[in-house]
Amino acid sequence: MTTDLDFDRDHLWHPYTSTSAPLPTYPVARAEGVYLELEDGRRLVDGMSSWWAAVHGYHHPVLNQAASEQLEKMAHVMFGGLTHEPAVALGKKLVALTPAPLQKVFLADSGSVSVEVAIKMALQFWLSQGHRGKDKLLALRNGYHGDTFGAMAACDPVNGMHSLFQGVLAKHFFAPAPQSPFDGPLDPSDVAAVREQLEQHHEQIAAVILEPVVQGAGGMRIYSPAYLKAVRELCDEFQVLLIFDEIATGFGRTGKLFALEHAQVCPDILCLGKAITGGYMTLAATLCSDRVAAGICDGEAGVLMHGPTFMGNPLACAVANASIQLLLDSDWQRKVAAIEAQLRADLLPLKALPAVADTRVLGAIGVMEMHEPVAMAQVQQRFVEQGVWIRPFGKLVYIMPPFVIAPDQLRQLTDAMKDLATRSGLAKAGQGAD
Ligand SMILES: *Cc1c(COP(=O)(O)O)cnc(C)c1O
Repeated sequence: MTTDLDFDRDHLWHPYTSTSAPLPTYPVARAEGVYLELEDGRRLVDGMSSWWAAVHGYHHPVLNQAASEQLEKMAHVMFGGLTHEPAVALGKKLVALTPAPLQKVFLADSGSVSVEVAIKMALQFWLSQGHRGKDKLLALRNGYHGDTFGAMAACDPVNGMHSLFQGVLAKHFFAPAPQSPFDGPLDPSDVAAVREQLEQHHEQIAAVILEPVVQGAGGMRIYSPAYLKAVRELCDEFQVLLIFDEIATGFGRTGKLFALEHAQVCPDILCLGKAITGGYMTLAATLCSDRVAAGICDGEAGVLMHGPTFMGNPLACAVANASIQLLLDSDWQRKVAAIEAQLRADLLPLKALPAVADTRVLGAIGVMEMHEPVAMAQVQQRFVEQGVWIRPFGKLVYIMPPFVIAPDQLRQLTDAMKDLATRSGLAKAGQGAD
């Protein structure tokens, strides 16, 4: 008799996995608040927010109600030639909450697609201005922007595996990952490296793309907001657009509603996703300034050449509206600050342990970087036995819990990380998967 788990193992791809040597998966029956409940009844404190998304926790009555009310009206209609209240309401919120110059909103169906759209906007902008050669990006080492081919080409060349896809991926320029610490001085060599790339290649570069303040899946690195100001100035000096990818950092995660607020810097194009629906539905958005929009539309193409089937999905927009309102009406700044304080107290001292290379914290993000890649399957199993859901990859063991997590639940997560750090046998050698 094959169980569902057998079928899953034999037929379903999971993110970044091998079907020949599959890693174990854990069946979830339901989720509520900060808990994932497995089919065998075990309850796990969720440290991942389902990859940054579930900021309000699971099975939230307000989000459930928004979804079911919208279902009574329509689940979906095409966005070509039609519009609807959920999309308009979401557009109003996004325009109001982001910096004033960002006035145009493209509703995409996933983070990667919003990055594709951002790249397309930048390329079309310069094409429309008659600058034919400006079709490259300047991206950062350790960056992560998604898994589709356009987005992948802007990811770190090594952990984005560019060598595997040589010849298919667009070739972009890369600057080193910024080294300037979050609250330390700006290291002039960080800025000099960007200047050097722009000086040499600005005639080919349409835009700089980066994740402001926190680099996510490409390394979980935190850097100085002052870097953003310097890059903005360089972009203006060299006539290059600036794209901020806030798909991971947006909606409060770093302690500001958007990470760009740490520096009060406005990009020309902004990507949002992940937490936009509180983890309920897939939805993302690409915002741009009137200047970029007009630049695209007044030129040769006349239109932005993009329009996914599920663009502006009403169900997703309705849940996004409810989720954003719920966030704004909540005491999220205080909650994120409390999470940050507790993470600092509990994780930063672990840096002293021999197996630990570094620990870092910003907002509701806690990272423990090991010297060696962790033995993924064993570590995962042990975390589950300890009642927590933490998904390490490579050398990185990190958490970004739902904002509604209570101090004792958060302590369960950090205790599990501490336990791993002190049991260096498990923290050594093994395969990493996402
Ligand atoms: C997750 C992520 C993406 C890709 O979003 P998907 O919804 O997985 O396509 C892009 N950029 C950043 C910074 C992300 O964290």
